[in-house]
Amino acid sequence: MNTEAEIREIFSHMRGLLTSYQEMGMDPPPVSSDTLGVSRRPEPKPVRRPAAPRVEEMKDRAVVPDRAALIEALRDRIGDCRRCKLSKGRTHLVFGEGSPEARLVFVGEGPGHDEDRVGRPFVGESGKLLTKIIENGMGLTRKDVYICNVVKCHPPGNRDPEGDEIEACLPFLREQLRIIAPEVICTLGRVAAQALLEKDFRITEQRGQWRSYRGIPLMPTFHPAYLLHNPGAKREVWEDVKQIMARLGLEVKSHG
Ligand code: URA
Repeated sequence: MNTEAEIREIFSHMRGLLTSYQEMGMDPPPVSSDTLGVSRRPEPKPVRRPAAPRVEEMKDRAVVPDRAALIEALRDRIGDCRRCKLSKGRTHLVFGEGSPEARLVFVGEGPGHDEDRVGRPFVGESGKLLTKIIENGMGLTRKDVYICNVVKCHPPGNRDPEGDEIEACLPFLREQLRIIAPEVICTLGRVAAQALLEKDFRITEQRGQWRSYRGIPLMPTFHPAYLLHNPGAKREVWEDVKQIMARLGLEVKSHG
């Protein structure tokens, strides 16, 4: 082979090598005497890039859920609920409100007259007190937390919700808590604590002690409506709120 033919063959070999590297998604090695085939050492084995994960493998990865969309879908699923007799007397179904990303969820008993009228939880007199606890006591806003109830419709005459009504509505509260997955739940009053803990929960004796709801720390405290009639109990609620704040790493600034 003459020199010109040899050079042509070397260039054609290099073009082939370059194409192979490109097809494998690799950078070609720097040009050296090895590349030109002068050395007889074996060519280095190509290092393959790791393959893209398959769909089955991706399922195991931490996924950031779109909680707002899930909460909205849950609200849609409840629809114009007629699952229990409370629906007959309601004006508005009071689903709940606040941040779907909340670290803290307050659970009340059921909408009162004012809440039924406007369709939002805790907007009446006891709601004003809860708002004070959130804002003045905890240094948060209502938008930072999530507020909902065991039953979503107003029990007539502000009576306690009955067993069948709680049974019909509780799956929706459980689903709200599953979606939001807060760091702390605070139940307000006996009915909420009994719905999420045990039926014989005694609020006066057992409030203020950490419990667990499906792995989430739960603090049972008095209902704000109770505080309106028993202002002396505010001191105990403040103790409970401070425990919640400590758990969430919030700084205690005032005394509620
Ligand atoms: N009491 C409750 O338990 N919930 C409300 O939303 C209002 C008053």
